[in-house]
Amino acid sequence: MIKKEKSFIIEQQDKKLKDQLAKIKHKILVMSGKGGVGKSTIAVNVAVGLSLQDFMVGLLDVDLHGPNVPKMLGARDLKLSRKPDGRMGAIKYSPNLKFLSIEPLLPSEDTAIIWRGPIKHSAIRQFIGDIDWEELDYLIIDAPPGTGDEPLTVAKTIPDAYTLIVTTPQEVSLIDVKKAIKFCQKIKLRILGIVENMSGFICPHCGKPVDIFKKGGGQKLADELGIRFLGRIPIDPRIVDTGDLGKPLIAAYPESITAKAFDELIRNIIIATEIMKKDVLEEKYMRVAIPISSPFELETSIEKFELFAIYDIENNKILVKDVVKKQQNQELINFLKEQVVTHILLFDPPKELADFLSQNEIKVLISDTFSESPDRLIEEYLKEKQIR
Ligand code: ADP
Repeated sequence: MIKKEKSFIIEQQDKKLKDQLAKIKHKILVMSGKGGVGKSTIAVNVAVGLSLQDFMVGLLDVDLHGPNVPKMLGARDLKLSRKPDGRMGAIKYSPNLKFLSIEPLLPSEDTAIIWRGPIKHSAIRQFIGDIDWEELDYLIIDAPPGTGDEPLTVAKTIPDAYTLIVTTPQEVSLIDVKKAIKFCQKIKLRILGIVENMSGFICPHCGKPVDIFKKGGGQKLADELGIRFLGRIPIDPRIVDTGDLGKPLIAAYPESITAKAFDELIRNIIIATEIMKKDVLEEKYMRVAIPISSPFELETSIEKFELFAIYDIENNKILVKDVVKKQQNQELINFLKEQVVTHILLFDPPKELADFLSQNEIKVLISDTFSESPDRLIEEYLKEKQIR
């Protein structure tokens, strides 16, 4: 294919993706440090629970190696629909819930698929951009365990996604969660909070909670790392049965203690997503880029903008600092978008540059006092902001 044609197709794809993402209010990537902690179970029950509360919900299974969602929903026979305009629509599970998984597109259940990074990347982009999801309040994305290509692609494709991290109370699982949190910070995914699954036990005979296992590790970790704790779900044998039978527990046993635990988790998720959205609007959360020539020195000449210090700031406090290099031929604006930067802090920038960035939804903060180092510049800015 000629180069020009190829870039035209990518441009068209980007536009479709952007248009679709603009129609989805909150995007949540459900992640876990390792497999088997109940990530898909949480994703499915949260999606079904939100849809039962009249939200419009999409559930996307990006576990290209072992898709579980259709089985858990009991919806393996449902097919993709074609829209009047020729586009494919996500599979309709109920009036408020649509889902999509790689499974219906595979020839047989046992097909082992080996995907390389770039193929995964384009498959996930197509799952979102080429499929008509229509307007959604929530898109819940079930990622495979660990910190591989899929979450990375989601982060690049949906820069405003939040992650919901699922853990179990055991030490080993908590160590993996720490890794997952570090990974999220590195790839610039904001963390919505932690859920502790398999926390306590619901007796199959009397249906009451029994504390035979350790619990509370997820909460402790969340407190330690300053991350929201969103809830705990007990071990309940009915989760396995309902998962196998294709009727998620939250719908099959709505009055059970476990369903109530899901309800509380969902309430906390709704509150947390609203707070996170508001924080961006009210600038309580910002991701600020500062052009630098070295980690300790500012760069003021636009032609040399290549290295950036990027700060995650919440309530005027710096949470994480990262130093990132822009590729030589990459447009500044594309780089900033890819890094999910909300603001850029510049010392005395030319008006055209400031206007151009503002038009492209990057807020420009202008410092009129020169500081040698980016850390000083941001600290001074935050101090002044507090006084104002
Ligand atoms: P993951 O997506 O993390 O690999 P799954 O959601 O597939 O994990 O869950 C793994 C197994 O554990 C499934 O058989 C599921 O039914 C079961 N399971 C998950 N959460 C619970 C729970 N709270 N109580 C009992 N069984 C559970």
